[in-house]
Amino acid sequence: MKIPACYYMIEPSIAHVTKSDKNNIEVNDRKRILVLGGGFAGIEVLRRLENKFENDFTIDISMVSKDNFFLFTPMLPEVVSGMIETRHIVTPVRAFCKRARFYEATIRSIDFQKRQVTISNEMDIKNEPANWHDHTLDYDYLVIALGGETNFFGMKDVKKYSYTMKSLGDAIVLRNHVIDMLEQVSIEQDGDLRKSLMTFIVVGGGFAGVETVGELNALVRDAVRDFYNDIDIKDIRVVLVNATDKILPEVSSDLSKFTTQKLKESGIEIILENPVSSATASTVKLKDGISMGTRTLIWAGGVTPETIVKELQCEHDKGGRIIVDEYLVVKGFDGVYALGDCASITDKNTGRPYPPTAQNAVEQAKAVARNLISTIRGGNKVSFNYKSRGIMAQIGKRKGVGILFGMKTHGLLAWMIWRTYYLSHLPTLEKKLRVVLDWTIDLFFKPDITRLKIFTENQVNNL
Ligand SMILES: Cc1cc2nc3c(=O)[nH]c(=O)nc-3n(C[C@H](O)[C@H](O)[C@H](O)COP(=O)(O)OP(=O)(O)OC[C@H]3O[C@@H](n4cnc5c(N)ncnc54)[C@H](O)[C@@H]3O)c2cc1C
Repeated sequence: MKIPACYYMIEPSIAHVTKSDKNNIEVNDRKRILVLGGGFAGIEVLRRLENKFENDFTIDISMVSKDNFFLFTPMLPEVVSGMIETRHIVTPVRAFCKRARFYEATIRSIDFQKRQVTISNEMDIKNEPANWHDHTLDYDYLVIALGGETNFFGMKDVKKYSYTMKSLGDAIVLRNHVIDMLEQVSIEQDGDLRKSLMTFIVVGGGFAGVETVGELNALVRDAVRDFYNDIDIKDIRVVLVNATDKILPEVSSDLSKFTTQKLKESGIEIILENPVSSATASTVKLKDGISMGTRTLIWAGGVTPETIVKELQCEHDKGGRIIVDEYLVVKGFDGVYALGDCASITDKNTGRPYPPTAQNAVEQAKAVARNLISTIRGGNKVSFNYKSRGIMAQIGKRKGVGILFGMKTHGLLAWMIWRTYYLSHLPTLEKKLRVVLDWTIDLFFKPDITRLKIFTENQVNNL
């Protein structure tokens, strides 16, 4: 529960300006840029602004984000399978901050009229309720890159009983849960209970759902084959449920069919045009009445903007995303930009909004940085017009699908292109090396089925 304890005003970035620089700059000459959200979009904007304004002390740059790291989501499903070690797909935000100031905090409100943002940090005191401190940040230019949260379409029971795949914490919890299910099957004798423990259901036919089901399937089948002699691999049930009639709607129909066929060949059941209607702790019910016993429902059914974004006093699309103009400026608010998953930007090539992908977020970030620099330094703003060079997904061990420069590719080649492409986009050399090492080790060794119980000894004793 939020307990506001203190209120502070913070003067952004002043700490990173040396005293002599600071004295030479009139306060009124300083321009304050505030970037909200340390994901694909926010980090790219930050990097570009820092490069441009590295030695310009009239510009203060600050970033606020909930986590103190940038998460490389395309590799999140591989954390679930254990192919990649948890910390290798995250990079501390401070590693991108040469002069910019970073605040690890939750954004509570944005006031366009006063040009202020309220943020809260949590003071964690051992064994005491959380204590929140509120602070206010002023800005001259604002960049809103707050991504989205999992969309449960109002189904409270599904929200309560499902696992999500959005954050690093989600991947860690899911991995431990899946391994726990296999340990439980080894003990339990009741037939129905064993069946439900061995049934894993993933909902969502987009990239997150398809990549997650591929990795999960590989983890469960490899683990059972290598370690669980008392489980018959034929009893494992991995199911992908999708509300519409095809998976990966972003790719062409034949590539989508190929993906469906390859997932089926690896043992995954696919249920199409049959949305989930309800869930309990041990069952999932579909619209046509089918009920499946399971202890593992993974929800990757889509994203929606956070409430704070939906409630902003500006124009939104039907899904609550902020409508921006061709320069990515929030309509009616000069100097305020929105981009990435939280913004609705019409693609002139298709007439539809750009889909929520990392690739689009990064390209939009380049445009926002360019336009901000032009606004501050003088120059013309450029309208955003990006045509995707391709789209790719990995669908389990050594298999991928994709369209690159208009050419369809699948199988091992697509998987290798996927890996090379995403590896090149990991932010630091250190993380690139660590991921390559993880992938190499995986080629030669059995999966790691260690189940981590993340409690202190004290907590375990009090259970
Ligand atoms: C499992 C998975 C796999 C994916 N695979 C692919 C893929 O293969 N290819 C692809 O192109 N896309 C993929 N995506 C989609 C991609 O991750 C998103 O489109 C991309 O992250 C959007 O970037 P963004 O900067 O808009 O939002 P995000 O990257 O989500 O960043 C939002 C940032 O804002 C912060 N934030 C949000 N609310 C607050 C708040 N109130 N206070 C403080 N901070 C806040 C968050 O902590 C986060 O740092 C995948 C997504 C998932 C979940």
